[in-house]
Amino acid sequence: MSSSGFASQNGAGGTYANGPSPNPVALYPSNQGYMTPPQPTYLNSTLAKAPTPPGPNNNRHQPSPVGMSQHSPQQPASPNHRPVLTAASQSSPTPPNSYYQHPQQPPSWHYGGAPPPAANHVSPALGPTAYSSGASTPPVFQNTMQPVGPVPPYSSLSSVAMPAPPAMNVVAPQTHLPYGIPPTAMRGTPPPPATGVPPPPLTYHNDAGSYSSQPGQMNRPMGTAYPSLQPTAYQSRPGMQTSPYIQPTAQLYQQPSVGTAQLSPSLAALSLQSETPEALRVVNLLQERNLLPPGTVTVPTPCLPQDLQKLNCSPEVFRCTLTSIPQTQALLNKAKLPLGLLLHPFKDLSQLPVVTSSNIVRCRSCRTYINPFVSFMDQRKWKCNLCYRVNDVPEEFMYNPVSRSYGTPHKRPEVQNATIEFIAPSEYMLRPPQPAVYLFILDVSHNAVETGYLDVVCQTLLENLDVLPGDARTKIGFITFDSTVHFYNLQEGLSQPQMLIVSDIEDVFIPTPDSLLVNLKEGKELLQDLLKSLPQMFCKTMETQSALGPALQAAFKLLSPTGGRMSVFQTQLPTVGAGALKPREEPSHKASAKDVQHLAPATDFYKKLALDCSGHQVAVDLFLLSAQYCDLSSLGCISRYSAGSVHYYPSYHKHHNPSQTERFQKDLKRYLTRKIGFEAVMRIRCTKGMSIHTFHGNFFVRSTDLLSLPNVNPDAGFAVQMSIDENLLDMQAVSFQAALLYTSSKGERRIRVHTLCLPVVNSLSDIFAGADVQAITCLLASMAVDRSVSASLSDARDALTNAAIDSLTSYRTSVLTIQQPGLLIPTCLRLFPLYILALLKHKAFRTGTSARLDERVFAMCQLKYQPLAYIMLMIHPALYRVDDMTDEGALNIDERTIPQPRALQLSVEKLSRDAAFLMDNGTVMYLWIGRNCSPAFITQVLGVQSYAAIPQNMTQLPELDTAESSRTRAFIDWLRERRPFYPTLHIIRDESQLKADFMQNMIEDRTESALSYYEFLLHLQQQVSK
Ligand SMILES: [Zn+2]
Repeated sequence: MSSSGFASQNGAGGTYANGPSPNPVALYPSNQGYMTPPQPTYLNSTLAKAPTPPGPNNNRHQPSPVGMSQHSPQQPASPNHRPVLTAASQSSPTPPNSYYQHPQQPPSWHYGGAPPPAANHVSPALGPTAYSSGASTPPVFQNTMQPVGPVPPYSSLSSVAMPAPPAMNVVAPQTHLPYGIPPTAMRGTPPPPATGVPPPPLTYHNDAGSYSSQPGQMNRPMGTAYPSLQPTAYQSRPGMQTSPYIQPTAQLYQQPSVGTAQLSPSLAALSLQSETPEALRVVNLLQERNLLPPGTVTVPTPCLPQDLQKLNCSPEVFRCTLTSIPQTQALLNKAKLPLGLLLHPFKDLSQLPVVTSSNIVRCRSCRTYINPFVSFMDQRKWKCNLCYRVNDVPEEFMYNPVSRSYGTPHKRPEVQNATIEFIAPSEYMLRPPQPAVYLFILDVSHNAVETGYLDVVCQTLLENLDVLPGDARTKIGFITFDSTVHFYNLQEGLSQPQMLIVSDIEDVFIPTPDSLLVNLKEGKELLQDLLKSLPQMFCKTMETQSALGPALQAAFKLLSPTGGRMSVFQTQLPTVGAGALKPREEPSHKASAKDVQHLAPATDFYKKLALDCSGHQVAVDLFLLSAQYCDLSSLGCISRYSAGSVHYYPSYHKHHNPSQTERFQKDLKRYLTRKIGFEAVMRIRCTKGMSIHTFHGNFFVRSTDLLSLPNVNPDAGFAVQMSIDENLLDMQAVSFQAALLYTSSKGERRIRVHTLCLPVVNSLSDIFAGADVQAITCLLASMAVDRSVSASLSDARDALTNAAIDSLTSYRTSVLTIQQPGLLIPTCLRLFPLYILALLKHKAFRTGTSARLDERVFAMCQLKYQPLAYIMLMIHPALYRVDDMTDEGALNIDERTIPQPRALQLSVEKLSRDAAFLMDNGTVMYLWIGRNCSPAFITQVLGVQSYAAIPQNMTQLPELDTAESSRTRAFIDWLRERRPFYPTLHIIRDESQLKADFMQNMIEDRTESALSYYEFLLHLQQQVSK
C-alpha cells in the first residue's frame, strides 16, 4: 500500500497480533497455550536485501510549500524521511521481530524498481494484454484494457461502479427454454434434465433472497435444470454474451479453465455501459473544493452480477477496502492502496435468519460454511467457493424447511443469506455453554468517591437488574478496592450482604469462593441492598491508594472456573500491589517535540493478566473516569487482549461536569443491557490464494486465524489486512467468510456467519474504481496506531501522508491516459486526501497542539476497535447549518419528520455569524450559535430571549411547542438514535470555553501547527508530480 507506509510491521501480526509488545520475549512464559507460535513465514530474511528505497540522496527534497517551513516537526512526510518505513525497519528503536515483512508480499517500498515477476502459472493463452497491468508497467493505462475477444472496445473505465445491467439478473419465466441456459449469459448453463422433465421456470432469479417459489414447482423432484450459483460461471468468453445457448454443458462443471479469456467482471458484466462510471470521473482537487456529498458518503457496490450482489453481505457488517480484488499481489502493490476487511460481526441486526440444524453443512476440506456463493454442480454436489473442493449435499439438506419443498438445496436459507445464524449442535461445544456471569470491580478510594460515579453505577444497575442479558443461571458479584480488596458475601439466607476485607494484596486470596457470585434471581434482594448501601459505605473514606492489580487478580480467580465478564471502574493511577504504575505524562502535555513518548505500555502485567483471562473465557471492560493521568496505554491492555472494551470519561465529576455524567449514565445503560456473547471465537477465511496477515481490534489471536473473544459485544469492530499469495488468474470472484461462534446469554451455542463475495479484476483502473475510501481510511488509521506504538508518531504520520501520495502517484502514472495539470484523483477517492489530513489532525495523531496522553491513547484505542461508521465520524465530524432547516427532502420515520440538512465542509468559511450550526463528532455534538443568529431561532429553539441570555453550560434543548424546536430536536434525536452510545450536546456561543474544541474540528483550516487542506493538497501535488 501505501502500505508502503506500514508494511514493514505487518509481519508482526503472526506473533503479536494485537500489536507489538515492549517485551515480547518475556510475555508468555507460562501461557504457551495462548501464544501464537512464531511464524517463520513472516520472518523475511530478504528484508535486508530489499532494494534500497528512494533515499535521502535521491534528490527528492523539494522546497516546502509556502507556510510550511517554519513548522518542520509538523510537516507531512519530509521527502528525506520518505522510504518511510524503511528507515524505521533499520534503525528505529522498536523491538526486533516486529517489523518483518510478509515474505509473500513484495516489499512495498519497492515501488521504485521493477514489479516482481508475474505469476509463473499464467497461461500463455491469456496473452499479455489480459494481465499486463499487473505484470509490467505500461505507461498508459488504456493498453492494458484491450478486451480480449469480440467485445466491443469499451473503455474499461466504463462499467465499474454501475449496477449490473438488467439483462443479467432477471429471467422472465416466459423466456425460459427447457434445455437452454437462461439468457443471462452470466450464469452457468444448467445441465440437461436427467429425467427429461422440463425444468421449472427459472424464477429464482427474480426472487433471490426470498424463499418463495411458484406454486407447483416446490415439490419438483430431482433432475430439473440446475441453477449454478457459481460465481465463476458468470464469466466466460465475451462472445457468450450474445450467444448464450451454445455453451457446452460441460463447462458448468469445470473450474474455469486457465486458458479462458479473462475479462474484468466490470467489463463483462456491464458490456452495455460505455460511459465512464462516476467512480472514475477525474477530479482536480485543486479546483473542485466542495467534495462532500449532500448526504452520507456512498459505499461502492461490488461489480458482481446483480443476482449475486443482491445476496451479498451488507456493507454495515462486512466491507473491503477494495471492492474489486486485484488479480495479483504485484497489481495490488502497484495500486498502492491497502487491502483489508472491516468487520462489525456482532452488530445489532433487525433481521437475522436463524437456522436450527443438527448437521451444519460445511466444506469437508476447509470448513467453510455453505453460503450463497458456492456453486451447485448438480443437486447432490456443491463446490466450495473458498477452496474449490466438491462436497456432497447431505440428504437432509435436500429438504427446504422454509418452502417445505424437496430437491432445491440452493434455495435453503443457508444459500440465500450472506448473513445467517446457526444454533449449533453439541459438537460445537467444548463444555456445556457457560452461564452469563457478571463481576463488577469498583474503585472506592477517596478520589473515586469524590467523583460521585459510584451512585451512577449503583443506580443504573439497580434500574437494569431485570434486563441484564441472561437466563435462570445468571450470576453476579462485586469486588471493591482501595489499598485493600473487599469482597461481598451474598449467600442466600444472610440478612444483609457481608463485606470481607483482604488486606494482603501481595498474595490476594478469595475468602469464600462459593458465595461471592450469586444467582441473580435468588440473590436479588441482597443485591439490591448492596447496591443501595455501597455509595454510602465509603463516603467518608480517606484511603487514597489504589490496588487495582490485586483486585483484578482476585477477580480473575473468582471468574476463571466459569468465564464471564469483568466490568472495572477506575479513577486513578494504580499505586500499590502488582500492576502499580508511575506517572509518565510529560508535564506540558504537548507534543511539540518531535514525538510523543509513552504510547506503549509501561508493564506487561495487564497484558499477561488479560491473556490468562482470555484462556479462561473472561473479558475485562474498563471504565476510566478521571481527571488525572491514569496510564491508559498500560491499563488498556487488560481489555485489549481479553476482547473487552474501554470507555473513558476524562474529567468526570458528578457536579462539575454534568453532561459527562449524563453520557456515562446513558452509556452504562447501553453497556449493561446490550447483547453479549460469551466464550466466543471468530475465524475469518478467504478464498485460496489470499491470506490474512494482521488483525486489528480487541482480541487475542489463538492460532493463525482464530481470534479468541471471551466476550463479544455488538459495538465491537475488527479490521484485517490481507495479501494475495497466489495469483488469482483463474478466478472471477473471491469470497471472505467470518464465522463467529459464541454462547448466547441464554446458554445457546450459536454461529453467526457472514460471507462477502467480490470480483477479481486485472486492471488498475478497475481497482481504483472499486476503492472504498472510508474503509481504506479506517484501515490506515488502525495501521497508523500500530505504527505510532511500534515506531513513532512521526513515522505513523509520514506513512499516512505517503499513503495518499503513493496512491495518487500510481493513479497519475498508471491509470490516467491524459496528463493534465492539477492534483487528479478518481471521484471515488476524492475524499482520500481530506480524510488523511483529518487523521493527521485527529487527537490520536496530531502534534503541536495540546493533547493529554490518555486522551490520545484513548483515541487510538477507538480507532482500533470501533466499527467503521463511528470511526468515520470521529475522523471527519459532520457539520450542518440548522437555523434554516426545512422539511424539504426530510425523512419520514414513524410519523416523525426528520429534516436532512446538507453536510458542510469543516471550515470557518462555512460558518456565519447570523446562523446556527450543529457539529457531530460521534461522542459530542456542539450547537454553535452565531452572534447575529436570528432572534426567532434563539427564542423558538433555545427558549431564551436573546443571544446574550444563552446560558454558559447549556446542554439540553427545551421542548418548545414550535415548528423550529421540534425540527431541531427531531434531527438531533435521529442522529443520536443511529448509534449505540449517547453523544452529549453542548450549546455554545463565541464566549464559551468549548468553542476551542468546536474549532479544533475545522479540519480544512490552517492552524498554528498544521496545514490547511489547500496547503496539504499543494504538498501532495508537489510530491506526486516528481
Ligand atoms: Zn472449502
